[in-house]
Amino acid sequence: MTVLGPIAPDTLGPTLMHEHVLCDITPPALAAKGGPEAEITLETCWEIRHQWCNHLGNHRLTDEAVAIAELERLHAEGGRALVELTCAGIAPHPAGLARVSAASGVHIVMGCGFYVEAYLDASARGASVDWLAGEMVAAVRHGMGGIRAGIIGEIGLSSPWTEAEKRVLAAAAVAQCGTGASLNVHPPRSPFDLVEVVEFIRAHGGDPERLVMSHVDRTLFDVDGLVRLADTGCVIEFDFFGIESSWYPFQPDIDLPNDGTRLRLLRGLADSGHLDRIAVSQDICTRTRLVSGGGHGYGHLFRNVIPLMRLRGFTEAEIEQMFVHTPRRLLTIAA
Ligand SMILES: [Zn+2]
Repeated sequence: MTVLGPIAPDTLGPTLMHEHVLCDITPPALAAKGGPEAEITLETCWEIRHQWCNHLGNHRLTDEAVAIAELERLHAEGGRALVELTCAGIAPHPAGLARVSAASGVHIVMGCGFYVEAYLDASARGASVDWLAGEMVAAVRHGMGGIRAGIIGEIGLSSPWTEAEKRVLAAAAVAQCGTGASLNVHPPRSPFDLVEVVEFIRAHGGDPERLVMSHVDRTLFDVDGLVRLADTGCVIEFDFFGIESSWYPFQPDIDLPNDGTRLRLLRGLADSGHLDRIAVSQDICTRTRLVSGGGHGYGHLFRNVIPLMRLRGFTEAEIEQMFVHTPRRLLTIAA
């Protein structure tokens, strides 16, 4: 189910499983400070990219003409589809996504649901599981302004996760079960036992085989931990490809991996028998990661990482599994 309607699963093509095209994910504290938006220039772009949470405006992807140009580049570089996980709290724009998809030729599968509590309004924070589930079921079955979601998520969990977020996650599991859509979760940061999240979803009727655990890049740092999580049945998503700096502004004691380290972890997971439980993406949500902001753009995985995979011995069949077959399985809504 794309923002332009249903398509045959075998026409999906190479797919990025976690991106943002139109969103405003400005941290609430930064939004509260206000002030003018930072201007991205040759002199400022390194610092804005490095301290990506400190510069107002960097988190606002709101220009449709820019989005169209960025996705036209992605298409030229080999990408055919992306999953757009902008949900309530970070300014979803279904009609805008439909226009960007039509103009760029890139399929967009839209998410639905609720981001971490600090970004939500009071009504969502206080809502019941039934109401929250109803919102997500309606987004998948009937759409928002007629544009239907094709996946649930990204469902936001803080570190530690809050009671309001547990209600949202329980509701998401109910909605996943009721609609047959897959579920993407933005989990608590390290150290946190992500198996607990999977078991919570299972206990509320959700299906771990149709669950994608986002952001393992900043949560799990060794193959044993990744294998233990994949053994639950869920899909492990490395979605910070393109971030080549160890600095993680949300948690300074974390060393983020670079693309080379990501590929080593991913290789370990594949060698342990979990190749079909790996998803990859870049989670672009700031201007400095767009080509127009001096960044790598949506095509980085196709332009730079797939060639690196080949140099490191990944086979064409393995690459196709991660970029085509696993997304196709997850995005085909179950009967
Ligand atoms: Zn995201």
